[in-house]
Amino acid sequence: MPRRTKIVATLGPATDGIEVTDRLIAAGVDVVRINLSHDSLQRHRERTRLIRQRAAEAGREIAVLIDLQGPKIRVGTFKDGKVELKAGDRFAIDANCDLSSGDQQRVGTTYAALADDLSEDDTLILDDGAIELLVTRVESGCVHCRVVVGGMLSNNKGINKRGGGLSAPALTAKDREDIKFAAEIDADYLGVSFVRNAEDVESARSLLREAGCNGGIVSKIERVEALQAIDGIIDASDAIMVARGDLGVEIGDAKLPEVQKQLIHKARSNNCVVITATQMMQSMIESPIPTRAEVFDVSNAVIDGTDAVMLSAESSIGKNPPKVVAALDRICMEAEKNARRSKHRIDSHFGRVDEAIAMASMYIANHLEVKAIAALTETGSTAKWMSRMNSGIPIHALTRSQVTCRKVTLYRGVYPLYFDVTSRDLSKINSEVIEAMLRQGTVQEGDLVLITKGDRSGVEGQTNIMKIMRVGEHTLSRIA
Ligand code: PGA
Ligand code: MN
Repeated sequence: MPRRTKIVATLGPATDGIEVTDRLIAAGVDVVRINLSHDSLQRHRERTRLIRQRAAEAGREIAVLIDLQGPKIRVGTFKDGKVELKAGDRFAIDANCDLSSGDQQRVGTTYAALADDLSEDDTLILDDGAIELLVTRVESGCVHCRVVVGGMLSNNKGINKRGGGLSAPALTAKDREDIKFAAEIDADYLGVSFVRNAEDVESARSLLREAGCNGGIVSKIERVEALQAIDGIIDASDAIMVARGDLGVEIGDAKLPEVQKQLIHKARSNNCVVITATQMMQSMIESPIPTRAEVFDVSNAVIDGTDAVMLSAESSIGKNPPKVVAALDRICMEAEKNARRSKHRIDSHFGRVDEAIAMASMYIANHLEVKAIAALTETGSTAKWMSRMNSGIPIHALTRSQVTCRKVTLYRGVYPLYFDVTSRDLSKINSEVIEAMLRQGTVQEGDLVLITKGDRSGVEGQTNIMKIMRVGEHTLSRIA
Protein backbone atom coordinates (compact mmCIF):
# COMPACT_ATOMS: atom_id res chain seq x y z
CA MET A 1 0.00 0.00 0.00
CA PRO A 2 1.35 3.46 -0.83
CA ARG A 3 1.80 6.02 1.94
CA ARG A 4 -1.36 8.11 2.42
CA THR A 5 -0.02 11.06 4.38
CA LYS A 6 1.75 13.52 2.12
CA ILE A 7 5.19 15.04 2.68
CA VAL A 8 5.87 18.74 2.08
CA ALA A 9 9.55 19.71 2.06
CA THR A 10 10.92 23.25 2.01
CA LEU A 11 13.63 23.78 -0.58
CA GLY A 12 16.76 25.70 0.30
CA PRO A 13 20.54 25.65 0.00
CA ALA A 14 20.67 22.09 1.38
CA THR A 15 18.43 20.74 -1.41
CA ASP A 16 20.20 22.46 -4.30
CA GLY A 17 21.70 20.29 -7.04
CA ILE A 18 20.55 17.45 -9.24
CA GLU A 19 21.83 14.65 -7.08
CA VAL A 20 20.08 15.68 -3.86
CA THR A 21 16.93 16.65 -5.80
CA ASP A 22 16.74 13.14 -7.23
CA ARG A 23 17.24 11.60 -3.80
CA LEU A 24 14.53 13.84 -2.37
CA ILE A 25 12.11 12.70 -5.07
CA ALA A 26 13.05 9.06 -4.62
CA ALA A 27 12.55 9.38 -0.84
CA GLY A 28 8.92 10.36 -1.54
CA VAL A 29 8.42 14.11 -1.45
CA ASP A 30 4.92 15.05 -2.68
CA VAL A 31 4.96 18.84 -2.46
CA VAL A 32 7.86 21.28 -2.32
CA ARG A 33 7.62 24.58 -0.48
CA ILE A 34 9.41 27.70 -1.60
CA ASN A 35 9.81 30.03 1.37
CA LEU A 36 9.84 33.64 0.19
CA SER A 37 11.21 34.82 3.53
CA HIS A 38 14.62 33.74 2.27
CA ASP A 39 16.73 33.92 -0.89
CA SER A 40 16.27 35.73 -4.18
CA LEU A 41 13.47 35.15 -6.67
CA GLN A 42 16.07 34.00 -9.15
CA ARG A 43 17.18 31.21 -6.79
CA HIS A 44 13.54 30.21 -6.31
CA ARG A 45 12.99 30.19 -10.05
CA GLU A 46 15.93 27.85 -10.53
CA ARG A 47 14.82 25.56 -7.70
CA THR A 48 11.30 25.31 -9.10
CA ARG A 49 12.61 24.58 -12.57
CA LEU A 50 14.93 21.85 -11.34
CA ILE A 51 12.41 20.03 -9.15
CA ARG A 52 9.83 20.04 -11.94
CA GLN A 53 12.30 18.81 -14.46
CA ARG A 54 13.58 15.98 -12.24
CA ALA A 55 10.02 15.03 -11.16
CA ALA A 56 9.00 14.74 -14.81
CA GLU A 57 12.11 12.65 -15.42
CA ALA A 58 11.06 10.32 -12.59
CA GLY A 59 7.44 10.20 -13.79
CA ARG A 60 6.21 11.80 -10.58
CA GLU A 61 3.72 14.60 -9.92
CA ILE A 62 5.10 17.09 -7.40
CA ALA A 63 3.23 20.26 -6.50
CA VAL A 64 4.88 23.61 -5.77
CA LEU A 65 3.74 25.66 -2.77
CA ILE A 66 4.90 29.27 -2.83
CA ASP A 67 4.87 30.58 0.72
CA LEU A 68 4.61 34.37 1.15
CA GLN A 69 6.62 36.05 3.86
CA GLY A 70 3.70 38.04 5.26
CA PRO A 71 3.96 40.75 7.90
CA LYS A 72 6.51 38.99 10.05
CA ILE A 73 7.53 41.70 12.49
CA ARG A 74 11.21 41.82 13.29
CA VAL A 75 13.74 43.79 15.25
CA GLY A 76 16.34 45.64 13.18
CA THR A 77 20.03 44.88 13.35
CA PHE A 78 22.62 45.65 16.01
CA LYS A 79 25.85 47.58 15.60
CA ASP A 80 27.62 44.56 17.06
CA GLY A 81 25.38 41.91 15.50
CA LYS A 82 23.78 41.01 18.83
CA VAL A 83 23.29 42.02 22.46
CA GLU A 84 22.84 40.05 25.62
CA LEU A 85 19.68 40.94 27.54
CA LYS A 86 19.47 40.03 31.21
CA ALA A 87 16.32 39.66 33.28
CA GLY A 88 15.48 43.01 34.84
CA ASP A 89 17.25 45.08 32.13
CA ARG A 90 15.50 48.02 30.50
CA PHE A 91 15.23 47.66 26.73
CA ALA A 92 13.24 49.52 24.08
CA ILE A 93 11.92 48.63 20.65
CA ASP A 94 11.89 51.97 18.97
CA ALA A 95 10.48 52.71 15.53
CA ASN A 96 12.39 56.02 15.60
CA CYS A 97 15.67 54.15 15.93
CA ASP A 98 17.58 53.58 12.72
CA LEU A 99 17.01 49.99 11.50
CA SER A 100 20.70 49.13 11.64
CA SER A 101 21.88 50.85 14.79
CA GLY A 102 20.58 48.71 17.65
CA ASP A 103 22.52 48.63 20.92
CA GLN A 104 22.21 47.50 24.54
CA GLN A 105 19.41 50.05 25.18
CA ARG A 106 17.26 49.94 22.07
CA VAL A 107 16.68 48.49 18.62
CA GLY A 108 14.64 49.48 15.57
CA THR A 109 11.78 47.47 14.06
CA THR A 110 10.40 46.64 10.62
CA TYR A 111 6.87 47.48 11.81
CA ALA A 112 6.60 51.24 12.22
CA ALA A 113 3.15 51.05 13.84
CA LEU A 114 4.20 48.59 16.56
CA ALA A 115 3.74 51.09 19.38
CA ASP A 116 0.14 51.80 18.30
CA ASP A 117 -0.84 48.18 18.93
CA LEU A 118 0.68 47.94 22.40
CA SER A 119 0.04 49.20 25.88
CA GLU A 120 1.48 48.82 29.34
CA ASP A 121 1.63 45.23 30.68
CA ASP A 122 1.56 43.57 27.24
CA THR A 123 4.10 40.78 26.73
CA LEU A 124 6.39 40.67 23.71
CA ILE A 125 8.05 37.45 22.66
CA LEU A 126 11.24 37.65 20.63
CA ASP A 127 13.07 34.98 18.66
CA ASP A 128 10.24 32.38 18.72
CA GLY A 129 9.96 32.39 22.48
CA ALA A 130 13.60 32.65 23.52
CA ILE A 131 13.22 36.14 25.00
CA GLU A 132 10.30 37.74 26.82
CA LEU A 133 9.75 41.44 27.40
CA LEU A 134 7.12 43.21 29.49
CA VAL A 135 5.90 46.53 28.12
CA THR A 136 6.26 49.23 30.78
CA ARG A 137 5.49 52.38 28.79
CA VAL A 138 4.59 53.37 25.23
CA GLU A 139 5.38 56.79 23.83
CA SER A 140 5.52 58.20 20.31
CA GLY A 141 6.71 55.15 18.41
CA CYS A 142 8.86 53.80 21.21
CA VAL A 143 7.98 50.72 23.28
CA HIS A 144 9.80 50.70 26.62
CA CYS A 145 10.17 47.27 28.17
CA ARG A 146 11.61 45.36 31.06
CA VAL A 147 13.33 42.06 30.26
CA VAL A 148 11.51 39.14 31.90
CA VAL A 149 13.39 36.28 30.26
CA GLY A 150 16.80 37.26 28.94
CA GLY A 151 19.13 35.81 26.34
CA MET A 152 21.18 36.69 23.28
CA LEU A 153 19.21 38.83 20.84
CA SER A 154 20.72 38.94 17.38
CA ASN A 155 19.82 40.70 14.11
CA ASN A 156 16.35 40.46 12.52
CA LYS A 157 14.74 38.20 15.11
CA GLY A 158 10.92 37.98 15.06
CA ILE A 159 8.60 39.85 17.43
CA ASN A 160 5.24 38.44 18.52
CA LYS A 161 2.70 39.69 21.02
CA ARG A 162 1.41 37.13 23.48
CA GLY A 163 -2.32 36.73 22.95
CA GLY A 164 -2.26 38.33 19.50
CA GLY A 165 -3.50 41.78 18.59
CA LEU A 166 -0.86 43.18 16.26
CA SER A 167 -2.95 44.72 13.53
CA ALA A 168 -0.61 44.43 10.52
CA PRO A 169 -2.62 43.34 7.45
CA ALA A 170 -1.79 39.90 6.05
CA LEU A 171 -0.50 41.07 2.67
CA THR A 172 2.49 43.39 2.60
CA ALA A 173 3.71 45.31 -0.44
CA LYS A 174 6.37 42.60 -0.91
CA ASP A 175 3.70 39.87 -0.76
CA ARG A 176 1.71 41.63 -3.50
CA GLU A 177 4.77 41.60 -5.72
CA ASP A 178 5.54 38.01 -4.77
CA ILE A 179 2.05 36.91 -5.83
CA LYS A 180 3.02 37.92 -9.36
CA PHE A 181 6.07 35.70 -9.03
CA ALA A 182 3.84 32.82 -7.87
CA ALA A 183 1.76 33.33 -11.00
CA GLU A 184 4.82 33.57 -13.22
CA ILE A 185 6.04 30.16 -12.14
CA ASP A 186 2.49 28.74 -12.16
CA ALA A 187 2.34 27.78 -8.47
CA ASP A 188 0.03 24.94 -7.51
CA TYR A 189 -0.52 26.50 -4.08
CA LEU A 190 0.02 29.92 -2.54
CA GLY A 191 0.77 29.99 1.21
CA VAL A 192 -0.60 33.12 2.90
CA SER A 193 1.12 33.96 6.18
CA PHE A 194 -0.54 35.55 9.22
CA VAL A 195 -4.07 35.60 7.79
CA ARG A 196 -6.54 37.24 10.18
CA ASN A 197 -9.85 36.33 8.57
CA ALA A 198 -11.64 35.12 5.44
CA GLU A 199 -11.26 38.54 3.76
CA ASP A 200 -7.46 38.19 3.89
CA VAL A 201 -7.80 34.83 2.14
CA GLU A 202 -10.19 36.22 -0.45
CA SER A 203 -7.95 39.14 -1.26
CA ALA A 204 -4.94 36.85 -1.72
CA ARG A 205 -7.06 34.70 -4.00
CA SER A 206 -8.24 37.63 -6.10
CA LEU A 207 -4.70 38.94 -6.50
CA LEU A 208 -3.51 35.48 -7.54
CA ARG A 209 -6.35 35.14 -10.07
CA GLU A 210 -5.73 38.65 -11.39
CA ALA A 211 -2.13 37.65 -11.94
CA GLY A 212 -3.42 34.71 -14.00
CA CYS A 213 -2.71 31.81 -11.63
CA ASN A 214 -5.24 29.14 -10.74
CA GLY A 215 -3.39 27.73 -7.71
CA GLY A 216 -5.05 26.84 -4.42
CA ILE A 217 -4.75 28.98 -1.29
CA VAL A 218 -3.09 27.58 1.84
CA SER A 219 -3.96 29.78 4.83
CA LYS A 220 -1.35 29.67 7.54
CA ILE A 221 -2.98 29.65 10.96
CA GLU A 222 -0.43 31.43 13.09
CA ARG A 223 -2.16 34.20 14.96
CA VAL A 224 -4.87 34.38 17.57
CA GLU A 225 -7.17 36.36 15.26
CA ALA A 226 -7.16 33.46 12.79
CA LEU A 227 -8.34 31.02 15.44
CA GLN A 228 -11.21 33.35 16.23
CA ALA A 229 -12.23 33.50 12.55
CA ILE A 230 -11.39 29.90 11.71
CA ASP A 231 -14.73 28.82 10.22
CA GLY A 232 -14.68 31.56 7.62
CA ILE A 233 -11.02 30.97 6.86
CA ILE A 234 -11.59 27.24 6.30
CA ASP A 235 -14.50 28.00 3.97
CA ALA A 236 -12.41 30.43 1.98
CA SER A 237 -9.28 28.23 1.73
CA ASP A 238 -8.24 25.16 -0.22
CA ALA A 239 -6.02 24.14 2.65
CA ILE A 240 -4.90 25.41 6.04
CA MET A 241 -1.52 25.03 7.67
CA VAL A 242 -1.15 24.51 11.38
CA ALA A 243 1.83 26.88 11.56
CA ARG A 244 3.04 25.84 14.98
CA GLY A 245 6.06 28.15 15.03
CA ASP A 246 4.37 31.52 15.21
CA LEU A 247 1.10 30.15 16.56
CA GLY A 248 2.88 28.57 19.52
CA VAL A 249 4.48 31.89 20.35
CA GLU A 250 1.14 33.73 20.30
CA ILE A 251 -0.99 31.23 22.21
CA GLY A 252 1.76 29.61 24.30
CA ASP A 253 3.31 26.27 23.38
CA ALA A 254 1.27 24.20 25.85
CA LYS A 255 -1.95 25.04 24.00
CA LEU A 256 -0.66 23.78 20.64
CA PRO A 257 -1.53 20.05 20.81
CA GLU A 258 -5.23 20.59 21.49
CA VAL A 259 -5.47 23.41 18.95
CA GLN A 260 -3.79 21.20 16.34
CA LYS A 261 -6.31 18.42 16.92
CA GLN A 262 -9.22 20.85 16.65
CA LEU A 263 -7.87 22.46 13.48
CA ILE A 264 -7.33 19.11 11.78
CA HIS A 265 -10.78 17.92 12.73
CA LYS A 266 -12.43 21.16 11.67
CA ALA A 267 -10.66 21.24 8.34
CA ARG A 268 -11.54 17.65 7.49
CA SER A 269 -15.17 18.04 8.49
CA ASN A 270 -15.46 21.04 6.21
CA ASN A 271 -13.86 19.56 3.11
CA CYS A 272 -10.63 21.46 3.61
CA VAL A 273 -7.11 20.03 3.42
CA VAL A 274 -4.68 20.47 6.33
CA ILE A 275 -0.89 20.57 6.63
CA THR A 276 0.85 20.19 9.99
CA ALA A 277 4.04 22.24 10.08
CA THR A 278 7.13 23.30 11.96
CA GLN A 279 9.72 21.50 14.07
CA MET A 280 8.34 18.05 13.30
CA MET A 281 11.84 16.65 12.83
CA GLN A 282 13.80 19.58 14.21
CA SER A 283 16.68 17.54 15.63
CA MET A 284 17.34 16.08 12.17
CA ILE A 285 18.69 19.44 11.00
CA GLU A 286 21.84 18.00 12.58
CA SER A 287 21.12 14.47 13.68
CA PRO A 288 20.81 11.33 11.48
CA ILE A 289 17.82 10.07 13.49
CA PRO A 290 14.78 11.79 15.01
CA THR A 291 14.15 11.95 18.75
CA ARG A 292 11.50 9.69 20.22
CA ALA A 293 9.40 12.80 20.88
CA GLU A 294 9.54 13.72 17.18
CA VAL A 295 8.47 10.21 16.17
CA PHE A 296 5.49 10.55 18.50
CA ASP A 297 4.65 14.02 17.19
CA VAL A 298 4.57 12.96 13.53
CA SER A 299 2.70 9.79 14.33
CA ASN A 300 0.12 11.65 16.40
CA ALA A 301 -0.47 14.17 13.61
CA VAL A 302 -1.13 11.26 11.23
CA ILE A 303 -3.52 9.66 13.70
CA ASP A 304 -5.24 13.04 14.17
CA GLY A 305 -5.88 12.91 10.40
CA THR A 306 -3.53 15.47 8.89
CA ASP A 307 -3.26 15.41 5.10
CA ALA A 308 0.40 16.31 5.11
CA VAL A 309 3.38 16.83 7.35
CA MET A 310 5.87 19.54 6.55
CA LEU A 311 9.61 20.08 6.82
CA SER A 312 11.09 23.57 7.11
CA ALA A 313 14.72 24.00 8.17
CA GLU A 314 15.06 20.20 8.39
CA SER A 315 15.11 20.09 4.60
CA SER A 316 16.06 23.64 3.53
CA ILE A 317 19.27 23.90 5.56
CA GLY A 318 19.49 20.45 7.15
CA LYS A 319 22.42 18.07 6.94
CA ASN A 320 20.62 15.37 4.98
CA PRO A 321 17.18 16.34 3.62
CA PRO A 322 16.46 13.03 1.80
CA LYS A 323 17.14 11.17 5.02
CA VAL A 324 14.58 13.30 6.89
CA VAL A 325 11.99 12.59 4.17
CA ALA A 326 12.76 8.87 4.45
CA ALA A 327 12.26 9.04 8.22
CA LEU A 328 8.90 10.82 7.78
CA ASP A 329 7.89 8.23 5.21
CA ARG A 330 8.60 5.35 7.58
CA ILE A 331 6.84 6.97 10.57
CA CYS A 332 3.74 7.93 8.53
CA MET A 333 3.42 4.46 6.98
CA GLU A 334 3.49 2.83 10.39
CA ALA A 335 1.06 5.34 11.95
CA GLU A 336 -1.41 4.82 9.10
CA LYS A 337 -1.80 1.18 10.08
CA ASN A 338 -3.63 2.47 13.13
CA ALA A 339 -5.96 4.78 11.24
CA ARG A 340 -9.49 4.36 12.47
CA ARG A 341 -12.64 4.28 10.40
CA SER A 342 -14.60 7.40 11.13
CA LYS A 343 -18.22 8.32 11.44
CA HIS A 344 -17.34 11.29 9.26
CA ARG A 345 -20.48 13.23 8.35
CA ILE A 346 -22.67 10.24 9.09
CA ASP A 347 -25.46 12.59 10.18
CA SER A 348 -24.86 15.34 7.68
CA HIS A 349 -26.99 16.39 4.77
CA PHE A 350 -25.34 16.52 1.35
CA GLY A 351 -26.02 19.53 -0.80
CA ARG A 352 -24.82 18.08 -4.08
CA VAL A 353 -25.18 14.88 -6.07
CA ASP A 354 -21.42 14.54 -6.67
CA GLU A 355 -20.73 15.04 -2.99
CA ALA A 356 -23.32 12.39 -2.05
CA ILE A 357 -21.79 9.91 -4.51
CA ALA A 358 -18.34 10.57 -3.06
CA MET A 359 -19.47 10.00 0.51
CA ALA A 360 -21.54 6.91 -0.31
CA SER A 361 -18.60 5.46 -2.19
CA MET A 362 -16.40 5.70 0.85
CA TYR A 363 -19.03 4.08 3.00
CA ILE A 364 -19.26 1.15 0.60
CA ALA A 365 -15.51 0.94 0.04
CA ASN A 366 -14.90 0.83 3.77
CA HIS A 367 -17.47 -1.93 4.28
CA LEU A 368 -16.68 -4.13 1.29
CA GLU A 369 -13.26 -5.46 0.33
CA VAL A 370 -12.63 -2.75 -2.25
CA LYS A 371 -8.97 -2.61 -3.27
CA ALA A 372 -8.88 0.78 -4.91
CA ILE A 373 -11.10 3.69 -5.80
CA ALA A 374 -10.94 5.37 -9.19
CA ALA A 375 -12.55 8.80 -9.23
CA LEU A 376 -12.86 10.34 -12.68
CA THR A 377 -12.56 14.00 -11.90
CA GLU A 378 -11.96 17.36 -13.53
CA THR A 379 -11.09 19.57 -10.56
CA GLY A 380 -10.33 16.87 -7.99
CA SER A 381 -13.35 17.72 -5.81
CA THR A 382 -14.68 14.17 -5.75
CA ALA A 383 -11.32 12.83 -4.59
CA LYS A 384 -11.12 15.56 -1.96
CA TRP A 385 -14.54 14.75 -0.50
CA MET A 386 -13.59 11.08 -0.41
CA SER A 387 -10.27 11.69 1.25
CA ARG A 388 -11.88 13.57 4.13
CA MET A 389 -13.20 10.21 5.36
CA ASN A 390 -10.77 7.87 7.10
CA SER A 391 -9.98 4.79 5.08
CA GLY A 392 -7.05 2.62 4.13
CA ILE A 393 -8.14 2.42 0.50
CA PRO A 394 -6.14 4.31 -2.11
CA ILE A 395 -8.15 6.95 -3.98
CA HIS A 396 -6.89 7.38 -7.53
CA ALA A 397 -7.85 10.71 -9.08
CA LEU A 398 -8.10 10.07 -12.82
CA THR A 399 -8.01 13.36 -14.61
CA ARG A 400 -7.09 14.95 -17.90
CA SER A 401 -6.01 18.13 -16.12
CA GLN A 402 -2.32 18.56 -15.31
CA VAL A 403 -3.27 21.20 -12.76
CA THR A 404 -5.51 18.75 -10.94
CA CYS A 405 -2.83 16.04 -11.13
CA ARG A 406 -0.50 18.26 -9.15
CA LYS A 407 -3.10 19.72 -6.81
CA VAL A 408 -4.28 16.36 -5.48
CA THR A 409 -0.75 15.36 -4.48
CA LEU A 410 -1.46 17.22 -1.22
CA TYR A 411 -4.61 15.23 -0.35
CA ARG A 412 -4.28 12.35 2.04
CA GLY A 413 -4.68 8.98 0.35
CA VAL A 414 -5.16 10.50 -3.11
CA TYR A 415 -2.89 9.67 -6.06
CA PRO A 416 -3.06 11.35 -9.46
CA LEU A 417 -3.29 9.37 -12.69
CA TYR A 418 -3.36 11.21 -15.98
CA PHE A 419 -6.37 9.88 -17.93
CA ASP A 420 -8.08 11.74 -20.72
CA VAL A 421 -11.75 10.67 -20.79
CA THR A 422 -12.58 12.90 -23.70
CA SER A 423 -10.41 10.89 -26.07
CA ARG A 424 -12.00 7.58 -25.13
CA ASP A 425 -14.97 5.47 -26.10
CA LEU A 426 -17.48 6.18 -23.34
CA SER A 427 -19.11 2.77 -23.64
CA LYS A 428 -15.84 1.15 -22.62
CA ILE A 429 -14.77 3.64 -20.03
CA ASN A 430 -14.90 1.25 -17.04
CA SER A 431 -12.64 -1.31 -18.62
CA GLU A 432 -10.30 1.42 -19.84
CA VAL A 433 -10.02 2.73 -16.27
CA ILE A 434 -9.17 -0.72 -15.02
CA GLU A 435 -6.68 -1.31 -17.82
CA ALA A 436 -4.96 1.96 -16.91
CA MET A 437 -4.71 0.93 -13.28
CA LEU A 438 -3.46 -2.53 -14.23
CA ARG A 439 -0.75 -0.91 -16.35
CA GLN A 440 0.18 1.27 -13.40
CA GLY A 441 0.37 -1.81 -11.17
CA THR A 442 -2.08 -0.48 -8.59
CA VAL A 443 -4.59 -3.34 -8.96
CA GLN A 444 -4.45 -7.04 -9.82
CA GLU A 445 -6.68 -9.75 -11.24
CA GLY A 446 -9.52 -10.45 -8.83
CA ASP A 447 -9.45 -7.08 -7.03
CA LEU A 448 -12.63 -5.07 -6.55
CA VAL A 449 -12.42 -1.53 -7.89
CA LEU A 450 -14.95 1.20 -7.19
CA ILE A 451 -15.32 3.75 -9.99
CA THR A 452 -17.10 7.10 -9.80
CA LYS A 453 -17.86 9.18 -12.88
CA GLY A 454 -20.45 11.30 -14.61
CA ASP A 455 -22.81 10.64 -17.53
CA ARG A 456 -21.17 13.56 -19.18
CA SER A 457 -17.52 12.73 -18.58
CA GLY A 458 -15.15 15.64 -18.86
CA VAL A 459 -17.56 18.16 -17.35
CA GLU A 460 -17.04 19.68 -13.90
CA GLY A 461 -19.29 18.73 -10.99
CA GLN A 462 -21.14 16.01 -12.92
CA THR A 463 -20.24 12.88 -10.97
CA ASN A 464 -23.45 10.90 -10.57
CA ILE A 465 -22.47 7.26 -11.04
CA MET A 466 -20.75 4.72 -8.84
CA LYS A 467 -19.80 1.36 -10.25
CA ILE A 468 -18.05 -1.62 -8.65
CA MET A 469 -16.09 -3.93 -10.93
CA ARG A 470 -13.89 -6.97 -10.45
CA VAL A 471 -10.57 -6.85 -12.27
CA GLY A 472 -10.50 -9.67 -14.81
CA GLU A 473 -14.26 -9.66 -15.25
CA HIS A 474 -14.12 -6.10 -16.49
CA THR A 475 -13.37 -7.22 -20.02
CA LEU A 476 -16.65 -9.18 -20.13
CA SER A 477 -18.73 -6.12 -19.42
CA ARG A 478 -17.90 -3.84 -22.26
CA ILE A 479 -20.98 -1.81 -21.56
CA ALA A 480 -20.60 1.02 -19.08
P1 PGA B 1 7.02 30.10 8.74
O1 PGA B 1 5.57 29.56 9.05
O2 PGA B 1 7.93 28.92 8.70
O3 PGA B 1 6.89 30.79 7.45
O4 PGA B 1 7.28 31.02 9.89
C1 PGA B 1 5.33 28.39 9.76
C2 PGA B 1 5.16 28.60 11.24
O5 PGA B 1 5.11 29.73 11.73
O6 PGA B 1 5.03 27.57 11.92
MN1 MN C 1 5.21 31.53 10.59
